[in-house]
Amino acid sequence: MTIKLNYLVNLRSGMCPESCTYCSQSLGSTAEILKYSRLSTDEAMDQASLGIGGGASRVCLVASGRGPSRRDVNRVGEIVERLKDENPDVEVCACLGILREGQAESLKEAGADAYNHNINTAESFHDTIVKTHTYEDPANTFELAKTAGLSPCSGLIVGLGESDEQIIEALFAPKALGSDSIPINFLVPFDGTPLEGQWNLTPMQCMKIVATARFVCPDREIRLAGGREIHLRSLQPMALQLANSIFLGDYLTAEGQAAADDLAMIRDNGFTILGQETGEGGDARTDESAGGCGGAAGCCSYSQTTAEAATHTDPVIRRRGAGTAEVANA
Ligand code: SF4
Repeated sequence: MTIKLNYLVNLRSGMCPESCTYCSQSLGSTAEILKYSRLSTDEAMDQASLGIGGGASRVCLVASGRGPSRRDVNRVGEIVERLKDENPDVEVCACLGILREGQAESLKEAGADAYNHNINTAESFHDTIVKTHTYEDPANTFELAKTAGLSPCSGLIVGLGESDEQIIEALFAPKALGSDSIPINFLVPFDGTPLEGQWNLTPMQCMKIVATARFVCPDREIRLAGGREIHLRSLQPMALQLANSIFLGDYLTAEGQAAADDLAMIRDNGFTILGQETGEGGDARTDESAGGCGGAAGCCSYSQTTAEAATHTDPVIRRRGAGTAEVANA
């Protein structure tokens, strides 16, 4: 059985005009994150190479902002072209926000394999957490990406104060949209953001969310994403049994656990890293027979609160890798 490693390169950090309340890069956030306007192609290549060297088979090129300009798409296209020239077996996913007509095609022509735009939360909760764009905006971008032949990737972030029913709603949405991969992020409640101090999740709640995602989407790539370390805590290895992939190393603005610990966790749990199979390999976690309870069986109750959730490890703001002179965590 394999686990796919994905590696994030934050091309532009902070200074985003959007108002996503969960995001340390958003308008009004005073979180003391790294801020830079753009990595050069060489800098982006250096960062991506570190992730690939660490075992990543997908590189995710991410930029803060509402959506890219034509110039942004051209610049990212340059990076994509070089990445694919030098690493033809590595998938490249772009995550640049809301796309306009023709931009997905440009990325595809440059060699991009996938496009990510997270729905982030349930439609019924969306306007509570972001005011500067609508729930339909990611869905529209998603359609543009699909039409251009890019593999669609869309996931969510939990722990925002949504209800159990809204988590179920959010888990069904990427499936309905046709998302090939579904990252599950767990809120990292940075100081200086509107959701500062909101520790709404327990490890077991997170585990149940991942399990429900597996039931709802048995044939999609479920990815443990940002915040997994501080929310799943000692249950990370258990969640790994249900997932297909993780991000290696650091996230966009927060540090992850050491890449060496990620790799050890994967191996300790009997998995091989996708692309490094020496035996039969293959992914056993696309079980078509797995069904979804849709919340009806009561196994999806996430509403434990309080004392257990209150024990947490504070997030560490990223100070290494992209945008710095420090060595990346890869
Ligand atoms: S989630 Fe994306 S669009 Fe929203 S504030 Fe953060 S960087 Fe900007």
